[in-house]
Amino acid sequence: MMKFGVVTFILLSSLTCLAQESERDKIRMLEQQKEYERLRLVRMEMDSGIYYLNREQYELANVKLKFALANMRSIPSDLAFFFGKNSYFIEKYKQSVDWLTKYIQLKGTTGQYSSEAAGWLRKAEESLLEERRAENIKTVEVLSRDYTIDCGPSGKVTCPVCNGSTVIIKKDYFGETYKTCPYCSKHGFLTCEEYNLLLRGQLKAHP
Ligand SMILES: [Zn+2]
Repeated sequence: MMKFGVVTFILLSSLTCLAQESERDKIRMLEQQKEYERLRLVRMEMDSGIYYLNREQYELANVKLKFALANMRSIPSDLAFFFGKNSYFIEKYKQSVDWLTKYIQLKGTTGQYSSEAAGWLRKAEESLLEERRAENIKTVEVLSRDYTIDCGPSGKVTCPVCNGSTVIIKKDYFGETYKTCPYCSKHGFLTCEEYNLLLRGQLKAHP
């Protein structure tokens, strides 16, 4: 009786094991199917991105290609190429250079899009340089009048209008005329606040 019980137990537990195994297989298969379906949809988004790129609808292409980028575990080289190319048209040149370079690194000169990629890369690099040059000009144009200048611990600055003399000399056809400096009220210096106002052209002259 005891022996019979043990055999039954072994039989039952191996049956349970088998059942569990097939259940696990089923789940695994379902998960795989789900993953294939997901990848198929992502791939479709990528294809429609390429479709819109070829029809010069670059903003829309950007949305589709970015979706594909975000949802693929590893990025296929053709996606790198199309995203890089599309980035050129939406004027994201740094991004364009980055992805086109990646494509060329992956495929060398023998890839399906290698020569096209090299062409767009050259254009994107030129545009990027231009953009940086323009930004340099802007940097040069950062002017002191847009900032508050620290005048140091004295809090005073020699009046730059009269150079501290409190007098302005005007030379004209009739000779020299002397006028009291209208900015520093006979002190020859400005407070720091007045100085900053003067730099911005906002310091009122005394009549
Ligand atoms: Zn002055």
